[in-house]
Amino acid sequence: VAGLRRADAEALDAADPLAAFRERFVDADEDARYLDGNSLGRLPVATRARLREAVEAWGEQLVGGWEAWIDAPTRIGNELAEGVLGAGPGEVLVGDSTTVNLYKLCAAVLDAEGPRRLVTDRGNFPTDRYVLEGLAAARGLELRLVERPEDLGSALDAPALAVLSHVAYRSGALADLPGLSALARERGARVVWDLSHSAGAVPVDLRAAGAELAVGCTYKYLNGGPGAPAFLYVARELQAALRSPIWGWFAQADQFRMERDYEPVDGIGRFGAGTPPILALAAVQEGVRITAQAGMAAIRAKSVALTELIVALHDAWLAPLGFALGSPREPERRGSHVAVRHPEAWSICRALIERAKVVPDFRGPDSIRLGVAPLYTRFTDVWDALDRLRALVERGEHRLVAPGASRVT
Ligand SMILES: *Cc1c(COP(=O)(O)O)cnc(C)c1O
Repeated sequence: VAGLRRADAEALDAADPLAAFRERFVDADEDARYLDGNSLGRLPVATRARLREAVEAWGEQLVGGWEAWIDAPTRIGNELAEGVLGAGPGEVLVGDSTTVNLYKLCAAVLDAEGPRRLVTDRGNFPTDRYVLEGLAAARGLELRLVERPEDLGSALDAPALAVLSHVAYRSGALADLPGLSALARERGARVVWDLSHSAGAVPVDLRAAGAELAVGCTYKYLNGGPGAPAFLYVARELQAALRSPIWGWFAQADQFRMERDYEPVDGIGRFGAGTPPILALAAVQEGVRITAQAGMAAIRAKSVALTELIVALHDAWLAPLGFALGSPREPERRGSHVAVRHPEAWSICRALIERAKVVPDFRGPDSIRLGVAPLYTRFTDVWDALDRLRALVERGEHRLVAPGASRVT
Protein backbone atom coordinates (compact mmCIF):
# COMPACT_ATOMS: atom_id res chain seq x y z
CA VAL A 1 0.00 0.00 0.00
CA ALA A 2 1.20 3.46 -0.86
CA GLY A 3 1.71 6.21 1.66
CA LEU A 4 -1.30 8.22 2.68
CA ARG A 5 -0.40 11.73 1.60
CA ARG A 6 -2.14 13.31 -1.35
CA ALA A 7 1.24 13.42 -3.11
CA ASP A 8 1.30 9.61 -2.94
CA ALA A 9 -2.07 9.44 -4.68
CA GLU A 10 -0.82 11.91 -7.30
CA ALA A 11 2.19 9.67 -7.92
CA LEU A 12 -0.08 6.68 -8.45
CA ASP A 13 -2.12 8.68 -10.97
CA ALA A 14 1.04 9.71 -12.78
CA ALA A 15 2.12 6.06 -13.11
CA ASP A 16 -1.36 4.76 -14.03
CA PRO A 17 -1.32 2.92 -17.39
CA LEU A 18 -5.08 3.55 -17.75
CA ALA A 19 -4.84 7.29 -17.03
CA ALA A 20 -5.59 8.27 -20.64
CA PHE A 21 -8.98 6.55 -20.56
CA ARG A 22 -10.32 9.13 -18.15
CA GLU A 23 -10.43 11.76 -20.90
CA ARG A 24 -12.71 9.52 -22.88
CA PHE A 25 -15.55 10.07 -20.37
CA VAL A 26 -17.68 13.13 -19.78
CA ASP A 27 -16.95 14.87 -16.49
CA ALA A 28 -19.53 17.61 -16.08
CA ASP A 29 -18.30 18.77 -12.66
CA GLU A 30 -14.58 18.58 -12.08
CA ASP A 31 -14.95 19.37 -8.41
CA ALA A 32 -17.25 16.41 -7.77
CA ARG A 33 -15.82 13.05 -6.71
CA TYR A 34 -17.98 10.36 -8.28
CA LEU A 35 -17.69 6.98 -6.57
CA ASP A 36 -20.90 5.46 -7.83
CA GLY A 37 -19.87 3.94 -11.15
CA ASN A 38 -21.02 0.62 -9.70
CA SER A 39 -24.56 1.99 -9.86
CA LEU A 40 -24.45 4.09 -13.03
CA GLY A 41 -21.31 4.42 -15.12
CA ARG A 42 -20.20 7.67 -16.73
CA LEU A 43 -21.02 8.72 -20.28
CA PRO A 44 -18.22 7.86 -22.75
CA VAL A 45 -17.50 10.87 -25.00
CA ALA A 46 -17.75 8.61 -28.07
CA THR A 47 -21.26 7.56 -27.06
CA ARG A 48 -22.58 11.08 -27.62
CA ALA A 49 -21.60 11.05 -31.28
CA ARG A 50 -22.61 7.44 -31.63
CA LEU A 51 -26.12 8.15 -30.36
CA ARG A 52 -26.41 11.13 -32.65
CA GLU A 53 -25.49 8.86 -35.58
CA ALA A 54 -27.96 6.23 -34.47
CA VAL A 55 -30.72 8.83 -34.34
CA GLU A 56 -29.73 10.15 -37.78
CA ALA A 57 -29.83 6.61 -39.16
CA TRP A 58 -33.34 6.22 -37.83
CA GLY A 59 -34.37 9.46 -39.48
CA GLU A 60 -32.80 8.65 -42.83
CA GLN A 61 -33.25 4.93 -43.17
CA LEU A 62 -36.52 4.33 -41.42
CA VAL A 63 -37.61 0.73 -41.74
CA GLY A 64 -34.79 0.01 -44.22
CA GLY A 65 -32.39 0.32 -41.29
CA TRP A 66 -33.48 -3.02 -39.88
CA GLU A 67 -31.33 -4.90 -42.37
CA ALA A 68 -28.30 -3.63 -40.47
CA TRP A 69 -29.88 -3.41 -37.01
CA ILE A 70 -31.50 -6.78 -36.66
CA ASP A 71 -28.41 -8.71 -35.54
CA ALA A 72 -27.23 -6.08 -33.05
CA PRO A 73 -28.10 -8.16 -29.95
CA THR A 74 -25.87 -11.06 -31.04
CA ARG A 75 -23.15 -8.91 -32.62
CA ILE A 76 -22.72 -6.82 -29.50
CA GLY A 77 -23.11 -9.99 -27.44
CA ASN A 78 -20.10 -11.43 -29.27
CA GLU A 79 -18.00 -8.35 -28.50
CA LEU A 80 -18.98 -8.57 -24.86
CA ALA A 81 -18.28 -12.30 -24.82
CA GLU A 82 -14.81 -11.90 -26.22
CA GLY A 83 -13.63 -8.70 -24.58
CA VAL A 84 -15.18 -8.95 -21.14
CA LEU A 85 -16.82 -12.26 -20.25
CA GLY A 86 -14.50 -14.99 -21.51
CA ALA A 87 -17.37 -16.57 -23.45
CA GLY A 88 -17.39 -17.85 -27.01
CA PRO A 89 -19.12 -16.38 -30.07
CA GLY A 90 -22.82 -17.15 -30.06
CA GLU A 91 -23.03 -17.49 -26.29
CA VAL A 92 -24.06 -13.98 -25.24
CA LEU A 93 -27.16 -11.98 -26.18
CA VAL A 94 -27.78 -8.33 -25.28
CA GLY A 95 -31.33 -7.18 -24.58
CA ASP A 96 -34.09 -6.87 -21.98
CA SER A 97 -33.24 -6.07 -18.36
CA THR A 98 -31.20 -8.18 -15.96
CA THR A 99 -34.39 -8.98 -14.07
CA VAL A 100 -36.17 -10.24 -17.18
CA ASN A 101 -33.13 -12.20 -18.36
CA LEU A 102 -32.80 -13.84 -14.96
CA TYR A 103 -36.44 -14.88 -15.10
CA LYS A 104 -36.02 -16.24 -18.62
CA LEU A 105 -33.02 -18.40 -17.76
CA CYS A 106 -34.43 -19.70 -14.48
CA ALA A 107 -37.78 -20.55 -16.04
CA ALA A 108 -36.04 -22.19 -19.01
CA VAL A 109 -34.14 -24.53 -16.67
CA LEU A 110 -37.27 -25.42 -14.70
CA ASP A 111 -39.28 -26.02 -17.88
CA ALA A 112 -36.59 -28.28 -19.35
CA GLU A 113 -35.56 -30.15 -16.24
CA GLY A 114 -38.59 -30.25 -14.02
CA PRO A 115 -39.18 -28.91 -10.52
CA ARG A 116 -36.09 -28.07 -8.52
CA ARG A 117 -35.35 -26.44 -5.21
CA LEU A 118 -34.53 -22.77 -5.76
CA VAL A 119 -31.51 -21.47 -3.89
CA THR A 120 -29.92 -18.09 -3.34
CA ASP A 121 -28.09 -16.32 -0.55
CA ARG A 122 -29.68 -13.97 1.92
CA GLY A 123 -27.47 -11.08 0.84
CA ASN A 124 -28.25 -11.34 -2.85
CA PHE A 125 -29.66 -8.35 -4.74
CA PRO A 126 -33.41 -7.85 -4.14
CA THR A 127 -34.50 -8.37 -7.75
CA ASP A 128 -32.73 -11.74 -7.81
CA ARG A 129 -34.57 -12.85 -4.70
CA TYR A 130 -37.89 -11.51 -6.00
CA VAL A 131 -37.58 -13.38 -9.30
CA LEU A 132 -37.01 -16.58 -7.34
CA GLU A 133 -39.83 -15.82 -4.89
CA GLY A 134 -42.14 -15.32 -7.86
CA LEU A 135 -41.08 -18.56 -9.51
CA ALA A 136 -41.43 -20.42 -6.21
CA ALA A 137 -44.93 -19.03 -5.70
CA ALA A 138 -46.09 -19.68 -9.27
CA ARG A 139 -44.71 -23.21 -9.43
CA GLY A 140 -45.02 -24.38 -5.84
CA LEU A 141 -41.25 -24.73 -5.34
CA GLU A 142 -39.20 -24.42 -2.20
CA LEU A 143 -36.94 -21.35 -2.02
CA ARG A 144 -33.96 -22.03 0.24
CA LEU A 145 -31.87 -19.07 1.43
CA VAL A 146 -28.30 -19.84 2.43
CA GLU A 147 -26.23 -17.38 4.44
CA ARG A 148 -23.50 -16.74 1.84
CA PRO A 149 -22.71 -18.06 -1.67
CA GLU A 150 -19.98 -20.26 -0.12
CA ASP A 151 -22.73 -22.14 1.74
CA LEU A 152 -24.29 -23.32 -1.52
CA GLY A 153 -23.28 -26.94 -0.87
CA SER A 154 -25.60 -27.16 2.14
CA ALA A 155 -28.64 -26.71 -0.13
CA LEU A 156 -27.69 -29.25 -2.78
CA ASP A 157 -29.07 -32.41 -1.15
CA ALA A 158 -31.97 -32.17 -3.65
CA PRO A 159 -31.96 -31.14 -7.33
CA ALA A 160 -31.44 -27.39 -7.27
CA LEU A 161 -31.34 -24.22 -9.33
CA ALA A 162 -29.23 -21.53 -7.66
CA VAL A 163 -28.85 -17.85 -8.43
CA LEU A 164 -25.63 -16.33 -7.13
CA SER A 165 -24.03 -12.92 -7.58
CA HIS A 166 -20.38 -12.98 -8.57
CA VAL A 167 -19.81 -9.79 -6.59
CA ALA A 168 -22.20 -9.08 -3.70
CA TYR A 169 -23.90 -5.73 -4.21
CA ARG A 170 -23.66 -4.59 -0.60
CA SER A 171 -20.32 -5.90 0.70
CA GLY A 172 -18.48 -6.27 -2.60
CA ALA A 173 -17.50 -9.84 -1.63
CA LEU A 174 -16.30 -11.83 -4.64
CA ALA A 175 -17.67 -15.37 -4.91
CA ASP A 176 -15.59 -18.28 -6.17
CA LEU A 177 -17.15 -18.60 -9.61
CA PRO A 178 -15.10 -21.60 -10.85
CA GLY A 179 -15.23 -23.40 -7.49
CA LEU A 180 -18.97 -23.03 -6.95
CA SER A 181 -19.70 -23.85 -10.60
CA ALA A 182 -17.73 -27.09 -10.22
CA LEU A 183 -19.46 -27.93 -6.95
CA ALA A 184 -22.87 -27.38 -8.55
CA ARG A 185 -21.98 -29.55 -11.53
CA GLU A 186 -20.80 -32.40 -9.27
CA ARG A 187 -24.03 -32.25 -7.33
CA GLY A 188 -26.30 -32.03 -10.35
CA ALA A 189 -27.35 -28.43 -9.68
CA ARG A 190 -27.62 -25.51 -12.10
CA VAL A 191 -26.35 -22.03 -11.27
CA VAL A 192 -27.33 -18.77 -12.93
CA TRP A 193 -24.59 -16.27 -12.15
CA ASP A 194 -25.47 -12.59 -11.83
CA LEU A 195 -22.48 -10.63 -13.12
CA SER A 196 -23.99 -7.15 -12.67
CA HIS A 197 -21.30 -6.04 -10.25
CA SER A 198 -18.41 -7.80 -11.95
CA ALA A 199 -18.83 -7.34 -15.71
CA GLY A 200 -16.30 -4.69 -16.68
CA ALA A 201 -14.76 -4.56 -13.21
CA VAL A 202 -13.49 -8.06 -12.44
CA PRO A 203 -12.16 -10.53 -15.00
CA VAL A 204 -14.82 -13.12 -15.68
CA ASP A 205 -13.79 -16.19 -17.63
CA LEU A 206 -17.09 -17.96 -18.06
CA ARG A 207 -15.87 -20.80 -20.24
CA ALA A 208 -12.74 -21.49 -18.19
CA ALA A 209 -14.84 -21.35 -15.01
CA GLY A 210 -17.25 -23.92 -16.38
CA ALA A 211 -20.16 -21.54 -15.85
CA GLU A 212 -23.32 -22.56 -17.71
CA LEU A 213 -25.71 -19.63 -17.31
CA ALA A 214 -25.29 -15.95 -16.47
CA VAL A 215 -26.93 -12.54 -16.68
CA GLY A 216 -25.76 -9.01 -15.94
CA CYS A 217 -26.10 -5.26 -16.35
CA THR A 218 -24.38 -3.01 -18.87
CA TYR A 219 -25.13 0.32 -17.20
CA LYS A 220 -22.75 -0.12 -14.24
CA TYR A 221 -19.07 -0.77 -15.01
CA LEU A 222 -19.78 -1.15 -18.73
CA ASN A 223 -21.04 2.44 -19.03
CA GLY A 224 -23.94 1.65 -21.35
CA GLY A 225 -26.26 4.34 -19.96
CA PRO A 226 -29.27 4.47 -17.62
CA GLY A 227 -31.44 1.41 -18.15
CA ALA A 228 -29.17 0.07 -20.88
CA PRO A 229 -30.15 -3.41 -22.11
CA ALA A 230 -28.65 -6.24 -20.10
CA PHE A 231 -26.98 -9.45 -21.28
CA LEU A 232 -27.52 -13.15 -20.87
CA TYR A 233 -25.10 -16.03 -21.39
CA VAL A 234 -25.95 -19.65 -22.07
CA ALA A 235 -23.07 -22.08 -22.64
CA ARG A 236 -23.27 -23.48 -26.13
CA GLU A 237 -23.74 -27.09 -24.95
CA LEU A 238 -26.85 -26.16 -23.01
CA GLN A 239 -28.61 -23.98 -25.58
CA ALA A 240 -30.50 -26.62 -27.55
CA ALA A 241 -32.08 -28.08 -24.41
CA LEU A 242 -33.44 -24.76 -23.16
CA ARG A 243 -36.26 -22.52 -24.35
CA SER A 244 -37.18 -19.08 -23.17
CA PRO A 245 -40.53 -19.00 -21.33
CA ILE A 246 -41.43 -15.97 -23.46
CA TRP A 247 -42.22 -17.16 -26.96
CA GLY A 248 -41.48 -14.07 -28.98
CA TRP A 249 -41.06 -13.52 -32.67
CA PHE A 250 -37.46 -12.41 -32.36
CA ALA A 251 -36.56 -15.93 -31.25
CA GLN A 252 -38.51 -17.58 -34.05
CA ALA A 253 -36.84 -19.47 -36.87
CA ASP A 254 -37.71 -17.80 -40.16
CA GLN A 255 -39.06 -14.80 -38.28
CA PHE A 256 -40.58 -13.10 -41.30
CA ARG A 257 -42.50 -16.09 -42.56
CA MET A 258 -44.97 -15.01 -39.92
CA GLU A 259 -47.68 -17.66 -40.08
CA ARG A 260 -45.72 -20.65 -38.80
CA ASP A 261 -45.98 -22.30 -35.39
CA TYR A 262 -43.42 -21.28 -32.84
CA GLU A 263 -40.09 -22.99 -33.30
CA PRO A 264 -37.12 -21.14 -31.77
CA VAL A 265 -33.92 -20.64 -33.74
CA ASP A 266 -30.84 -22.64 -32.89
CA GLY A 267 -28.30 -20.76 -30.83
CA ILE A 268 -28.36 -17.86 -28.41
CA GLY A 269 -30.98 -16.00 -30.48
CA ARG A 270 -33.64 -18.29 -29.01
CA PHE A 271 -33.42 -16.32 -25.77
CA GLY A 272 -34.55 -13.11 -27.45
CA ALA A 273 -38.16 -12.00 -27.27
CA GLY A 274 -39.30 -8.76 -28.91
CA THR A 275 -37.84 -5.97 -31.02
CA PRO A 276 -34.42 -4.92 -29.69
CA PRO A 277 -33.77 -1.31 -28.55
CA ILE A 278 -31.40 -0.19 -31.30
CA LEU A 279 -30.55 3.25 -29.91
CA ALA A 280 -29.72 1.84 -26.49
CA LEU A 281 -27.71 -0.98 -28.01
CA ALA A 282 -25.49 1.53 -29.80
CA ALA A 283 -24.54 3.00 -26.44
CA VAL A 284 -23.84 -0.46 -25.00
CA GLN A 285 -21.50 -1.21 -27.88
CA GLU A 286 -19.42 1.92 -27.17
CA GLY A 287 -19.21 1.01 -23.48
CA VAL A 288 -18.15 -2.55 -24.25
CA ARG A 289 -15.54 -1.39 -26.75
CA ILE A 290 -13.84 1.03 -24.42
CA THR A 291 -13.68 -1.68 -21.75
CA ALA A 292 -12.29 -4.26 -24.16
CA GLN A 293 -9.66 -1.78 -25.36
CA ALA A 294 -8.41 -1.19 -21.84
CA GLY A 295 -8.41 -4.93 -21.14
CA MET A 296 -9.79 -6.66 -18.08
CA ALA A 297 -6.36 -7.49 -16.63
CA ALA A 298 -5.34 -3.82 -16.50
CA ILE A 299 -8.77 -2.84 -15.18
CA ARG A 300 -8.55 -5.39 -12.38
CA ALA A 301 -5.01 -4.38 -11.42
CA LYS A 302 -6.06 -0.75 -11.02
CA SER A 303 -9.28 -1.68 -9.29
CA VAL A 304 -7.35 -3.62 -6.65
CA ALA A 305 -4.93 -0.73 -6.14
CA LEU A 306 -7.83 1.74 -5.77
CA THR A 307 -9.77 -0.39 -3.29
CA GLU A 308 -6.55 -1.04 -1.34
CA LEU A 309 -6.19 2.73 -1.01
CA ILE A 310 -9.76 2.99 0.28
CA VAL A 311 -9.11 0.28 2.86
CA ALA A 312 -5.87 1.94 3.99
CA LEU A 313 -7.55 5.36 4.32
CA HIS A 314 -10.48 3.76 6.12
CA ASP A 315 -8.13 2.21 8.67
CA ALA A 316 -6.18 5.42 9.17
CA TRP A 317 -8.94 8.03 9.10
CA LEU A 318 -12.39 6.47 9.39
CA ALA A 319 -12.00 3.65 11.90
CA PRO A 320 -11.15 6.17 14.67
CA LEU A 321 -14.44 7.98 13.83
CA GLY A 322 -16.55 4.87 14.45
CA PHE A 323 -16.54 3.32 10.98
CA ALA A 324 -16.06 -0.39 10.30
CA LEU A 325 -15.04 -2.06 7.09
CA GLY A 326 -18.05 -3.72 5.43
CA SER A 327 -16.05 -5.49 2.72
CA PRO A 328 -13.49 -8.30 2.71
CA ARG A 329 -10.05 -7.06 3.68
CA GLU A 330 -8.22 -9.35 1.22
CA PRO A 331 -8.24 -7.80 -2.27
CA GLU A 332 -8.63 -11.19 -3.97
CA ARG A 333 -11.92 -11.64 -2.13
CA ARG A 334 -13.59 -8.40 -3.21
CA GLY A 335 -14.84 -6.69 -6.35
CA SER A 336 -14.53 -3.04 -7.28
CA HIS A 337 -16.30 -1.32 -4.41
CA VAL A 338 -15.68 -1.03 -0.70
CA ALA A 339 -18.45 -0.65 1.84
CA VAL A 340 -17.78 1.32 4.99
CA ARG A 341 -20.28 0.94 7.80
CA HIS A 342 -21.41 3.49 10.36
CA PRO A 343 -24.55 3.77 12.51
CA GLU A 344 -25.28 7.17 10.89
CA ALA A 345 -24.40 6.00 7.38
CA TRP A 346 -27.59 7.36 5.81
CA SER A 347 -27.12 10.95 6.96
CA ILE A 348 -23.38 10.81 6.27
CA CYS A 349 -24.10 9.69 2.72
CA ARG A 350 -26.69 12.47 2.22
CA ALA A 351 -24.27 15.06 3.63
CA LEU A 352 -21.47 13.87 1.35
CA ILE A 353 -23.68 14.39 -1.68
CA GLU A 354 -25.31 17.65 -0.59
CA ARG A 355 -22.41 19.38 1.15
CA ALA A 356 -19.15 17.83 -0.05
CA LYS A 357 -19.76 16.92 -3.71
CA VAL A 358 -18.82 13.34 -3.05
CA VAL A 359 -21.15 10.80 -4.64
CA PRO A 360 -21.16 7.32 -3.13
CA ASP A 361 -24.41 5.53 -2.32
CA PHE A 362 -26.16 4.19 0.74
CA ARG A 363 -27.27 0.61 1.16
CA GLY A 364 -29.22 -0.19 4.28
CA PRO A 365 -28.98 -0.68 7.08
CA ASP A 366 -25.63 1.02 7.60
CA SER A 367 -23.36 0.83 4.54
CA ILE A 368 -21.88 3.54 2.35
CA ARG A 369 -20.59 2.03 -0.88
CA LEU A 370 -17.48 3.57 -2.42
CA GLY A 371 -17.23 2.28 -5.97
CA VAL A 372 -14.18 2.66 -8.18
CA ALA A 373 -14.34 2.41 -11.96
CA PRO A 374 -10.74 2.03 -13.17
CA LEU A 375 -11.42 3.58 -16.57
CA TYR A 376 -12.09 6.96 -14.99
CA THR A 377 -11.59 6.91 -11.22
CA ARG A 378 -8.28 8.47 -10.18
CA PHE A 379 -6.32 7.69 -7.03
CA THR A 380 -6.68 11.36 -6.13
CA ASP A 381 -10.48 11.04 -6.50
CA VAL A 382 -10.41 8.35 -3.82
CA TRP A 383 -8.06 10.38 -1.64
CA ASP A 384 -10.13 13.56 -1.94
CA ALA A 385 -13.41 11.73 -1.32
CA LEU A 386 -12.15 10.05 1.83
CA ASP A 387 -10.56 13.31 2.98
CA ARG A 388 -13.87 15.15 2.56
CA LEU A 389 -15.65 12.27 4.29
CA ARG A 390 -13.47 12.37 7.37
CA ALA A 391 -13.59 16.15 7.61
CA LEU A 392 -17.38 16.15 7.33
CA VAL A 393 -17.83 13.55 10.07
CA GLU A 394 -15.25 15.24 12.31
CA ARG A 395 -17.23 18.47 12.05
CA GLY A 396 -20.52 16.64 12.63
CA GLU A 397 -21.92 18.08 9.39
CA HIS A 398 -23.98 14.97 8.73
CA ARG A 399 -26.18 15.99 11.65
CA LEU A 400 -27.26 19.05 9.61
CA VAL A 401 -28.94 17.21 6.74
CA ALA A 402 -32.71 17.25 6.63
CA PRO A 403 -34.20 13.93 7.67
CA GLY A 404 -36.45 12.01 5.31
CA ALA A 405 -35.45 9.58 2.64
CA SER A 406 -35.23 10.50 -1.02
CA ARG A 407 -36.83 8.06 -3.42
CA VAL A 408 -33.48 6.90 -4.77
CA THR A 409 -30.52 6.09 -2.57
C1 LIG B 1 -27.95 -3.69 -10.54
C2 LIG B 1 -28.31 -5.13 -10.37
C3 LIG B 1 -29.47 -5.65 -10.97
C4 LIG B 1 -30.40 -4.73 -11.71
O1 LIG B 1 -31.35 -5.39 -12.45
P1 LIG B 1 -32.22 -4.53 -13.50
O2 LIG B 1 -33.17 -5.50 -14.05
O3 LIG B 1 -31.26 -3.95 -14.48
O4 LIG B 1 -32.86 -3.43 -12.74
C5 LIG B 1 -29.72 -7.00 -10.82
N1 LIG B 1 -28.90 -7.80 -10.10
C6 LIG B 1 -27.78 -7.31 -9.51
C7 LIG B 1 -26.90 -8.22 -8.73
C8 LIG B 1 -27.47 -5.96 -9.61
O5 LIG B 1 -26.38 -5.47 -9.01
